[in-house]
Amino acid sequence: MIDLYNDILEVFKRHIDILFGISNIDFSAFKSNYKCALVFAVPHKELLSINNYKEEKFESLICEARDYIDVLLDEITTLLNAYKIQYYIPPVAQTSEETLIAPFSFKFASVNAGLGWIGKNDVLITEKYGPRVRLSAILINYDLPIGSPITMSKCPSACNICVNACPHTALSGRQWNIGIKREELIDFRLCNQKRSLFLKTHYRKNSCGLCMISCPLGIMKL
Ligand code: SF4
Ligand code: SF4
Repeated sequence: MIDLYNDILEVFKRHIDILFGISNIDFSAFKSNYKCALVFAVPHKELLSINNYKEEKFESLICEARDYIDVLLDEITTLLNAYKIQYYIPPVAQTSEETLIAPFSFKFASVNAGLGWIGKNDVLITEKYGPRVRLSAILINYDLPIGSPITMSKCPSACNICVNACPHTALSGRQWNIGIKREELIDFRLCNQKRSLFLKTHYRKNSCGLCMISCPLGIMKL
């Protein structure tokens, strides 16, 4: 008999620092082919603050978290393959530099699974690590117990630390709720345009993250 959920729990017991949950995927174009998404948030190995921020360090923490995600995906897909359950790992990359939308929103799935909310910096904020996590998801064609969505921001309304940290004033300062559109929170084209200036010299975008590492959540109480 298949006890996939229990086996997934066993995987995450071996990786106790990782936050995970199950999201419904009714919001996604993949809903006709898969039943749910397993989403997880890998914390950065070091929780940087504005006081010890260096772009190169931030970039290397992102890369390390990405490598850890590969290890987890490997363990989970091994399980799914053993049970012969269909799955799909959606790409992180946005399909268009114009819309900057990925085929499957890890952020929206994370909110749906109850991992956190979207901060004024337009990234997932978790209770435990604040925004210092990297997200991943795997679409699974098997019913698993769906988590409860978080529908409102838990950012203190008076907090604007991340908004003020953006050197390009790309953040509006509006509070998130599950119905709000991304463009109401962030001028994502401006953010992308400024970060893309790095391509000429570094062959990658500037990972910036000033609006993430300035957030006190995850390193201190507000
Ligand atoms: S990543 Fe950088 S440029 Fe983009 S919104 Fe955050 S602070 Fe601004
Ligand atoms: S800095 Fe303040 S407003 Fe911005 S994400 Fe963190 S808690 Fe929310």
